[in-house]
Amino acid sequence: GDRDQLRLQELESILTSMPVMAFVPSSPLERRFDGRLQNVILTSSGACRRLRESGFRGPVHPRSGPCILRACATPHQQCDVLVVGSGVSGSSLAFNLHKLGVDVAMTEARDVVGGNVISRSQDGYIWEEGPNTFQPAPHIMRLAVDLGLENELVFADHTLPRFVYWEKQLFALPMGPQDIPNFKLLSPWGFLRAGLGAIGVVLPNMTNKEESVEQFITRHLGKEVFQKMIDPFVSGVYAGNPTRLSMAAAFKKIKALEALGGTPGLIEGGIIRMIQKKREEVVDPSLPKYKGGALGSFKDGLLTLPRAVADYLGRDRVHLGWKLVSLVKEEGYGYLAKFETKEGLRLVRTRSVALTTPAYVVPSVLETLMPEAKALEELDYPCLC
Ligand SMILES: Cc1cc2nc3c(=O)[nH]c(=O)nc-3n(C[C@H](O)[C@H](O)[C@H](O)COP(=O)(O)OP(=O)(O)OC[C@H]3O[C@@H](n4cnc5c(N)ncnc54)[C@H](O)[C@@H]3O)c2cc1C
Repeated sequence: GDRDQLRLQELESILTSMPVMAFVPSSPLERRFDGRLQNVILTSSGACRRLRESGFRGPVHPRSGPCILRACATPHQQCDVLVVGSGVSGSSLAFNLHKLGVDVAMTEARDVVGGNVISRSQDGYIWEEGPNTFQPAPHIMRLAVDLGLENELVFADHTLPRFVYWEKQLFALPMGPQDIPNFKLLSPWGFLRAGLGAIGVVLPNMTNKEESVEQFITRHLGKEVFQKMIDPFVSGVYAGNPTRLSMAAAFKKIKALEALGGTPGLIEGGIIRMIQKKREEVVDPSLPKYKGGALGSFKDGLLTLPRAVADYLGRDRVHLGWKLVSLVKEEGYGYLAKFETKEGLRLVRTRSVALTTPAYVVPSVLETLMPEAKALEELDYPCLC
């Protein structure tokens, strides 16, 4: 049976080379290694009970025999920083750390890199099933150039407007004051309300609590602007619910405008910020030029970027189909990360860990290390199915 497969000698040699982690599959071993068990114990449920009865008070995680064998058969990989998740966050972090000379490994639960970024192509067409564009900024341009993707960059025509589809009609959003007279999406009252708010006729946030996008925009520019202009935009960018999305977290630059200048109006704040930006601006001649409002992508779609990072890091540093299931502290080194993979369990020893997974993944991973991470389960994530 399963237990017959456990080779005690093999386990003994593994155990003696591991000061912190011990595998205790049955009572003979349990007796032999009693006293050396310190931190993590993978054991059968019977041994688990006997350990407790013998007075051991450390964390005990029941596991079955074959599962232990697979874990033992896998050699540990060691790195300085383990980046978990290969979306835009994980990919850019892993790349930048590697560029700085840090010994980094990146793991991804799915069989492909990119996370939310899903670019597809067929019959000569390319489409995005997640984010469709990025806002060009020095850090992402630097990343693209360092990855050799400079010639792959494409930018939208910044003179073209964005549209809102409202009651079976397309409305072009104003690109500047000259477009306002022809902008018919708002009613005259909605227009007046937005104008007054924009120049500073705004009530303060009476609740003194963090505001949602809906609360902030309605307070500043009125309900109509929120419903007809902001709600569609927020859904497009975050696939999120603006009634629950935090303004300070999702649009912190716009939120900051109300604190600039003598009035809370967003126009005054916007003008001041523009002047500040002009003064602070340092043009890096090694980066491609782009116009402020022009959205960017790559010729073959956004997935080009995480794919290029994975190619750059190489197969030894990027592990696809590795799902992080637990993280425990290892005295004297850092952390031991345990992964479920198609080939069985894999362990990585690392000095530090960067979790770039969605927040709801974190509580189970940090169950023993940081039980308070359970609070992250409360964060709302939109369903993309
Ligand atoms: C529909 C939609 C449209 C959007 N449009 C835009 C846009 O046009 N422009 C824009 O700038 N932003 C847009 N966004 C936002 C943008 O997509 C996200 O901010 C960004 O993709 C988040 O990247 P991330 O790396 O932080 O997370 P993710 O992309 O979620 O990456 C996390 C990764 O962790 C992996 N993972 C999860 N659990 C584990 C585990 N246990 N072990 C190992 N790996 C694990 C996941 O498989 C995933 O690959 C949009 C978002 C959505 C949903």
